[in-house]
Amino acid sequence: MKPEALLHPRPEGLYCPPGDFFIDPVRPVERALITHAHADHARAGHGAVLATRETLDIMRLRYGGDFTKSKQVAELGKRIDLGGVTVSFHPAGHVLGSAQIAVEAKGLRIVASGDYKRHPDATCTPFEPVACDVFITEATFGLPVFVHPDPESEALRLAESLRQFPERAHIVGAYSLGKAQRVISLMRSVGHDAPILIHGALAKISRYYQGRGIKLGRLEPATVEGIGGTRGAGQIIVAPPSVLGDRWTRRFADPLSVFASGWMRIRQRARQRGVELPLILSDHGDWNELTMTIRETGASEIWVTHGREEAIVRWCAINGIAARPLHLVGYEDEAE
Ligand SMILES: [Zn+2]
Repeated sequence: MKPEALLHPRPEGLYCPPGDFFIDPVRPVERALITHAHADHARAGHGAVLATRETLDIMRLRYGGDFTKSKQVAELGKRIDLGGVTVSFHPAGHVLGSAQIAVEAKGLRIVASGDYKRHPDATCTPFEPVACDVFITEATFGLPVFVHPDPESEALRLAESLRQFPERAHIVGAYSLGKAQRVISLMRSVGHDAPILIHGALAKISRYYQGRGIKLGRLEPATVEGIGGTRGAGQIIVAPPSVLGDRWTRRFADPLSVFASGWMRIRQRARQRGVELPLILSDHGDWNELTMTIRETGASEIWVTHGREEAIVRWCAINGIAARPLHLVGYEDEAE
């Protein structure tokens, strides 16, 4: 069996003809397998969704109970038969509930990894390499210039800033699913025990994380009335990145803008957004994680999806691994 007969791109997303399902479709389809709950991968309106419990739960929190006609929980590592094709879900280390999806038929195994990372993250199950013939990898940070620092060292930089500027409210822009909870968890791990204020947009998901046993410490709503004063001075306020520079921040004492993102490696991006303290913290693999993972899967062929496809494809060629870009559209990493 040729790999393309088992899985190939269509405008809706990656399609498996023998199993008649899509992986992370960007348009409504009859049957969707979903790697994780980020909005560009997990959309509402499918006929049936197969995903991990956490992904299904988070989709329900975001879209409401009727986000799909029927749903099925995929337990990690368990094999499920779909029309003669065997599928199984394996941890991706990206956000809570994130999974790679292995698709197998007639002795051929393809792994679609969705988004993934290898750096430590206490808020989700670590990535597990799955041996396969074809490995489908993202390439958000697929350039050698992207080498993410140790996450704890970034957390310590925020802790240091709090010590240095106790009169200023530290507004941390962080994507509401995954990054926000990871920032909070990291700050707890470096000994920041004070209550952390959170924007209303993060409340439901953060509560859900806590319900699944992720330790985030004491969280308080940042929804306070009035302007200025000493509100939030010396405190961490976590909010979606869109509020940075917005009037929402003016209710806090001399707001200091912090942004937790892999893109903060690029100084110009931090400057453009008026970020005073850029934290390089990514839920996507950097160049070393991507290339290490490609080797660990032992795959003889690599398909590269969203991001910087060219450099990864070239690296594979130099290392004697067949590779090509898939040119999937509809996956945005700007909010990363
Ligand atoms: Zn994602």
